[in-house]
Amino acid sequence: MNEYIYKCFDCEKEINSTEIESNLIYLCPDCGTAEKNEPLKGVLQIIYNYDSIKNEITREEFLNFIPGQIKYYPQLLPLKNKLDEKQLSRIKFPQSPLLNVSIENYSVQIFDDTKNPTLSYKDRASLLTVLKAQELEIKDIAAASTGNAASSLAGICAAMGLTSRVFVPKNIPQSKLLQIQSYGSVVYFVDGDYDEAFDLCLEIASKRRWYNRNTAYNPITIEGKKTAAYDLFVASKGNLPEYIFVPVGDGVIISGMYKGLWDLKQLGWIDEIPKLIAAQAEGSDALVRYYESGEFTYHPANTIADSISAGAPRNLYMAAAAVKNTNGIAIRILDKLILKSQSIVARNTGILIEPSCAVSYAGFQKMMSEGLIDSTEKCLLMFTGNGLKDPDALKQNNIKLEPKTPQAWQEELLNE
Ligand SMILES: [Zn+2]
Repeated sequence: MNEYIYKCFDCEKEINSTEIESNLIYLCPDCGTAEKNEPLKGVLQIIYNYDSIKNEITREEFLNFIPGQIKYYPQLLPLKNKLDEKQLSRIKFPQSPLLNVSIENYSVQIFDDTKNPTLSYKDRASLLTVLKAQELEIKDIAAASTGNAASSLAGICAAMGLTSRVFVPKNIPQSKLLQIQSYGSVVYFVDGDYDEAFDLCLEIASKRRWYNRNTAYNPITIEGKKTAAYDLFVASKGNLPEYIFVPVGDGVIISGMYKGLWDLKQLGWIDEIPKLIAAQAEGSDALVRYYESGEFTYHPANTIADSISAGAPRNLYMAAAAVKNTNGIAIRILDKLILKSQSIVARNTGILIEPSCAVSYAGFQKMMSEGLIDSTEKCLLMFTGNGLKDPDALKQNNIKLEPKTPQAWQEELLNE
């Protein structure tokens, strides 16, 4: 059986995995709190027996795996049952997520998670959460989300035969809501913001004994998101970049990236973790403010980048530690620059990303123009969601066309 324990990020209490999982405990029993409009306290981390794993897999063997397939490393997943490969084969992740591109004459690497089964990075967390729910023999999984986590949970549950129950705020982009509904999810449409949907989901899921996929609250989501770090390690053949630009809302993707890289370091397979740069929208910049002042203050979030819109980032403290421990920084980007970057990326790479991940390019561009990094340093941008998920943002970047008759076009184009 897989050996792992849960360890509180805040008070460092270590807890047996069976105790946590069989009692559906999500936060630290000693210090965990999920208060309204506050980051979570007592988020749990999962720690493996790295010495034993080192004896089972070598770095070279790991680097020969195919990206996007978690079946290769069951030792590094918090699952106790043997993975069912036939069932896993229903969910396909891209096998070559790493691309070398040129954007506005900058040579950068992209980690493209926009082509996952439901078109976002969140599928990594949803898959692992669904596998854990199956192990616990729970058929209903709940989540609160601004869109991507819910649409991801809905799609993965549809593929795996479970029921998804999602709490979404009223400002969810219409296309994401339609995506969720199309997968057959049970939708609780909340007349409130994401923070209110999150709190409501915690209460109802706990009382109804639904498994909870709320991001960061369930530590399995962080473990799911760490698999991108493994895929990056494999796809780059162990040649990691110096900087990784990560869009930050709730702070779970950056925490997951850090955790995956930290695992690799514990295994002795990398010497240093790349610098993690947390990129936020100016209207949702709680991490940047926390980083600057050392204090969390709640401001309601307001940004075009709905996927990273979080007034109270649930995993604020772990995300801030990921930045600090890697000597990274946290930066904020204006919405108008986010939209501009979305357009630049699409026109230079052919990849249509949603505004939330355009902050990674905008952040990179800002650091380059301010001389904080130079062109000799290898930089990677995380692209975490497909642009078609948010047509309202696309409308702001593209003029509204009026049709003309074929004859009018002929006159215009042939009589020049
Ligand atoms: Zn604790």
